Amino acid sequence: MMQSLELIVAGGGIGGLAAALVLGRQGHTVTVLEQSPAFGEIGAGIQLGPNIFRMFEHLGLTEAVTAVAYFPPGMGMNDVRTGEKIVRVPLGDTARAVYGYPYGLIYRADLHDVFLQACRATPTVRLRTSAKVEGFEQDEQRVRVHVDGETLEADALIGADGLWSRVRQQIVGDGKPRLSGHIAYRAVLKREDVPAHLWSDDVVLWGGEKTHLVHYPLRRGELFNLVAVFHSDKYEEGWNTFGDTEELNARFADAVPQVKELLGKIETWKMWVLCDREPVKTWSNGRVTLLGDAAHPMLQYLAQGAGQAIEDAVVLGEAIKAAALRQTQGERLVEDAFEKYQQARYLRTGRVQLTARFYGDIYHASGVTRELRNQMFQSGRESAGFAGLKWMYEGIDPKTLFT
Ligand SMILES: Cc1cc2nc3c(=O)[nH]c(=O)nc-3n(C[C@H](O)[C@H](O)[C@H](O)COP(=O)(O)OP(=O)(O)OC[C@H]3O[C@@H](n4cnc5c(N)ncnc54)[C@H](O)[C@@H]3O)c2cc1C
Repeated sequence: MMQSLELIVAGGGIGGLAAALVLGRQGHTVTVLEQSPAFGEIGAGIQLGPNIFRMFEHLGLTEAVTAVAYFPPGMGMNDVRTGEKIVRVPLGDTARAVYGYPYGLIYRADLHDVFLQACRATPTVRLRTSAKVEGFEQDEQRVRVHVDGETLEADALIGADGLWSRVRQQIVGDGKPRLSGHIAYRAVLKREDVPAHLWSDDVVLWGGEKTHLVHYPLRRGELFNLVAVFHSDKYEEGWNTFGDTEELNARFADAVPQVKELLGKIETWKMWVLCDREPVKTWSNGRVTLLGDAAHPMLQYLAQGAGQAIEDAVVLGEAIKAAALRQTQGERLVEDAFEKYQQARYLRTGRVQLTARFYGDIYHASGVTRELRNQMFQSGRESAGFAGLKWMYEGIDPKTLFT
C-alpha cells in the first residue's frame, strides 16, 4: 500500500485544485491554502485543446466538463482591417478524428467549479480560504509553511500560487515576471446581447498589426467571450483591473465595422498586463515543487496555461505513484518524485512558453511576416489546421510516463 503523505498546496486556482484532486484521490492528505476569502475564478473564457480533454478523461471529469463547455465547429482568422478571411479550420468531429479528443471552450468559473466540486467530494482534500502563504523552510523530514502568522507542517509543499508565486521566489528566485508589452482586455456578453450578425459559432480571431480580437461562445452557447489584445508599454502592472475603453477604441480605429460594432457592445472591460518568464529546468527543491503558472507562466497565444497546469497535476500524481512503487520505506520519496516530475515536464512546458511568444508575434504581424504567416496557416489545413502544433495537442499519455 502506498505511504500516505501530508501535502500542502499553495493556491486554489485551476492548477492547485487539479493537483489536490489527483493527490487526494491517491489517499494523501492534501490541504489547499488559498489567499482569497472565497474559492472562485474571474468571469472569462478559456479554450481547451484536445490534450486537455485527454487529461479530463484520465481524471474522470469529461462528463462534468462537457455539461458546461461549448464545442465550436471551427476556428478562423480574418484580417481586422480588410475583413479578408485568412484561414478557417474545422474543429468538431475533425479535431476528434485527428487527436482523439475534442476542442472545447469553457467559462473559467465553470472549469474551476468542476475541480472544486470534485475536491469537495474527496474526503482527504481540505480547502482553506483567507490563507496566504508567506514562505516556507524545510529540512530532511518536513516542510514548515508560514501562513498569516501560523506555521503548518507537512511532508511536502506544492506551489501553485500563480504568476507572482511566493514559493517560486524561494526556489528559483528569478524576480518579477517578464513584461511582454502586450495588454489584454476581456469581457463576456450574454447571448441575447449579441446581435445575430455579430454572433459566430466559431472561434474567430481578427488579426492586425500589433492588435487582435478573439471571440467565441461559452457555456453551451449561452455566453459570448471577447478578448482584445494590443501592444503597449504604458502599463507596468495590472491584473484583473478595469480597461480604458477610449484607448481600446483608438487601437481598433481602422478595424472593419463588424469588429467596431462588437467592441461597442462592451461597457466594462477587465485588463491584464501580459507577462511570462524564461523557461527554467529546475523548479523543485527538496520537499517543495511548483506547478502551473508558478512553474512556467506563458503568454496566452496558444491558450494552454490552464491546460498545462492540469497536465502538471496529472504528471505529478503519476510521479508520486511511481516513486512510491520504487521506494523502500522512509527514503527520499518526495524528493525523488519531484525531480522526476520536473524532468518529465520542463521541456514540454518550455516549448509551449516559447512557441506562445512566437504565435503572439505572428498574430500581430505586418509586411512579409504577415504574408508568411498566412501561407503557413493556409498550408496547415490537412491536420485540422494545427500542423505545427500537433506535438502540443496530441498531449501526454499518463499511463506510460514513468514505466
Ligand atoms: C488573457 C488570458 C487568456 C488566457 N486564455 C487561456 C486559455 O484559453 N486556455 C488556457 O488553458 N489558459 C489560458 N490562460 C492562462 C491561464 O489563465 C493560466 O495559465 C492559469 O490560470 C494558471 O493556473 P494556476 O492555477 O497555475 O494559477 P492561477 O490561476 O493564477 O491561480 C493561482 C491561485 O493562487 C492564489 N495565490 C496566489 N498567491 C498565493 C499565496 N501566496 N498564498 C495562497 N494563495 C495564493 C491565487 O489567489 C489564485 O487563486 C489565459 C490567461 C490570460 C491572462
